[in-house]
Amino acid sequence: MREIRHWIDGTATDGTSGRRLPVWDPATGEQQAYVVAATAAETERAVASAKRAFPGWRAASLSRRAEVMFRFRELVDANRKEIASLVSAEHGKTVADAAGELARGLENVEFAAGAPHLLKGGYSEQASTGVDVYSIRQPLGVVAGITPFNFPAMVPMWIFCNALVCGNTFVLKPSEKDPSASLMLADLLRQAGLPDGAFNVVQGDREAVEVLLGHPDIEAVSFVGSTPVARSIYRTATENGKRVQALGGAKNHMVVLPDADIGAAADAAVSAGYGSAGERCMAVSVVVAVGASADPLVEAIKERVGRIAVGPATDPSAEMGPLISREHRDRVAGYLADPGAAEVVVDGRDAPVSDGPGFFLGASLVDRVPTDSPLYTDEIFGPVLSVVRVDTYEEALELVNANEYGNGTAIFTRDGGAARQFQYDVVCGMVGVNVPVPVPVAYYSFGGWKSSLFGDLHMYGPEGLQFYTRSKVVTSRWPDPAGSEVDLGFPKVR
Ligand code: NAD
Repeated sequence: MREIRHWIDGTATDGTSGRRLPVWDPATGEQQAYVVAATAAETERAVASAKRAFPGWRAASLSRRAEVMFRFRELVDANRKEIASLVSAEHGKTVADAAGELARGLENVEFAAGAPHLLKGGYSEQASTGVDVYSIRQPLGVVAGITPFNFPAMVPMWIFCNALVCGNTFVLKPSEKDPSASLMLADLLRQAGLPDGAFNVVQGDREAVEVLLGHPDIEAVSFVGSTPVARSIYRTATENGKRVQALGGAKNHMVVLPDADIGAAADAAVSAGYGSAGERCMAVSVVVAVGASADPLVEAIKERVGRIAVGPATDPSAEMGPLISREHRDRVAGYLADPGAAEVVVDGRDAPVSDGPGFFLGASLVDRVPTDSPLYTDEIFGPVLSVVRVDTYEEALELVNANEYGNGTAIFTRDGGAARQFQYDVVCGMVGVNVPVPVPVAYYSFGGWKSSLFGDLHMYGPEGLQFYTRSKVVTSRWPDPAGSEVDLGFPKVR
């Protein structure tokens, strides 16, 4: 069986621990490969390699670093199909969806290629007489990324492109569930001219992560994954003195006001609720139907749900693939088996595809979900869309703001004033107005609020560059030695 290897010091490296973690084909339920979980010694080797590479990469000029990003962009573009197929084969999402993931990842490479503009510091001439003050941004050193299964190419690209262009070197611990894309990206970085050791991949799980969180040579940690793990990573890594941004889970609400176009709102809810089988941190998982919108909206969503083609990524007509693992599929199906007072309108367990050996579950719709139901309170991360009915805009807003998570939200309306008020009032990091998955473009930054993000700086874009650099302020004077004298007073600006 195929082993998916580590990438250390510019080359693919066999794992030695003997602890094999399975990589499934979610469409067939069969194991297709395995990764050997990295030992502490292997993880340390990757960190040591990144540490050795740091002085040289840091010294590379900004143009040189940007050039590597330009070349990497061209290589990823030329290999789009292959990377997308690899992502599909291990994750289960459709090839078109995987291609979309790559396109959004490429935006981050493009942003990084232009980053030198944003890495400029400030300069104040004559801040005091004959004194100039300026600020510069310098890389941190070796930084680590720990990424989730649901975007095995895009999320690493959110992180490492900006980290590298700032002059840092990198150790990535990708998800053990779909690890191949990380190796392909590592090889393309090598082909783009990145020096050996500047980018490393250690496969594995918690054991490797714990080494990274405690390693004295790791300066910063970017994490993306579920909230309990994000919270714990933030705590441990900050205790160890590292700079940390840890993005967690979500429960994204889409508010539909009575004046919204019901057909368009239903299209958006279905696209954002069931795309990638609901395994997106920006998936819509709760539709908040306000007033009279509820009955026609539920009917319109139900009608569309019935038409979703569920199937393997190899079937070009499939719109939605399987879930990532059997355990996850069963967990998601469990919410349908025990809906409490909620009304299951479409039960995905009844779809023929749900009976196969693959990890499929048909698209499901649940109406009148009480807000104390696990259907509402849990991040389900599957193709189950809940509808909560409320009477007024105020109730809808209160619901969104009281939720534990604050990743993304959206409002659907034809009333510009109501949309503006929502944007102003809502306690959430990313807001869509008639846009159901408001993932910011690469020149803004991505991040939720509340339990969706632990840390201060959002990911990628300008805040990403801030995260991966620290500023230094220089005060400089070139005086005539003839006028030099001792002055014990506190320096004043003159
Ligand atoms: P996960 O938290 O299980 O795993 C994420 C990463 O952490 C993986 O690399 C995994 O190996 C590692 N990990 C898991 N348990 C660990 C532990 N106890 N100690 C140390 N490391 C550990 O998440 P997942 O299931 O891979 O991904 C889905 C989750 O990610 C969802 O909750 C989703 O909302 C979230 N997500 C959030 C965003 C965002 O931007 N906020 C983006 C994508 C995914």
